[in-house]
Amino acid sequence: MFINYREIPVELLYYNALSARSELSRNEKYQMKILKKGFEGECLYDKIFEETGHSNVYIFRDVYLKVGNTVTQYDSIVITDNKVTVNEIKNFHGDYHYTKDDWYRNGTSLEDDAFAQLRRAKGKLMKLSKNSSVKFEVDAALIFINDDFRLTSENDGIWDKVIVRSHLRSYLHSLNNSQKGDKAKKIANIINNNKVNNIYFNEKADINRLRLGIYCGECKSFKQVKRRFHFTCSNCGTTETNETHFLRALSDHKFLFYNQPITKKSILYLINNQLTKSTLARFMNAHCNIEKRGRSSTHTFKYYDFNDALKTTAGRRYKNTIVKFE
Ligand SMILES: [Zn+2]
Repeated sequence: MFINYREIPVELLYYNALSARSELSRNEKYQMKILKKGFEGECLYDKIFEETGHSNVYIFRDVYLKVGNTVTQYDSIVITDNKVTVNEIKNFHGDYHYTKDDWYRNGTSLEDDAFAQLRRAKGKLMKLSKNSSVKFEVDAALIFINDDFRLTSENDGIWDKVIVRSHLRSYLHSLNNSQKGDKAKKIANIINNNKVNNIYFNEKADINRLRLGIYCGECKSFKQVKRRFHFTCSNCGTTETNETHFLRALSDHKFLFYNQPITKKSILYLINNQLTKSTLARFMNAHCNIEKRGRSSTHTFKYYDFNDALKTTAGRRYKNTIVKFE
């Protein structure tokens, strides 16, 4: 049983918004590609878990846990009465070699040791068990989700921590071949109580490089013709409501300037005044949480991201007419 949704990671939403509003550098393009590939791998893991069944386990997806003074990210934590299993999902493709704590791809050594990362993640959960009233075993495995992945190593000690795609279904079956009773629930509660936000993300976009205005959700063109309740894209013909454009801009603002205050002024600036002040005020009341602080007030986006927000506005009077962009 999945306990939480797997949201698109903050880092990837930052690059999505940045790439819509500016030209990415080579390094930014590379980072975005890596993040996208990683997220696709995680979604594929979820899909396969969905197919093999997970009714006898609790699963946390993409969570940050604070144990002691450190915060650790987990791709997936599977909980049963008997044990907690950490799954780190790697969307590597090609031929890899592992020797003496180092990873090589086509003869080039890689910066990160996935086994060390897995060990640290496992260690933190063991510490959590030690510090709490409910004791639990912790197991851990690297999931290589891509079927175009091969690993060679002389180190025989690694193979019980390696799950390749062709073995994934039977592995997930075996995880689910268990029980989730009172103890599993207690463990899930302990883990839930240690959940924190991603503290590692600290990118902030340079406002001067951003293209201001509103853009098409389908083809990303900024050439928009204003109607009364809609904008129509001159490039592809898609029509989206004022509210949809507002929500996209608010989501962009959230991830481009993470943890920065959202104000009417900063949104109007980002959309280049393409909505009137009164329309904007109405939308902000509907879609932001407002916290008064003396004479000023701060706004926070009510939803995780644009897609999350769109779900709540489905069924409104004014609809989007999306022209599929091939
Ligand atoms: Zn368009």
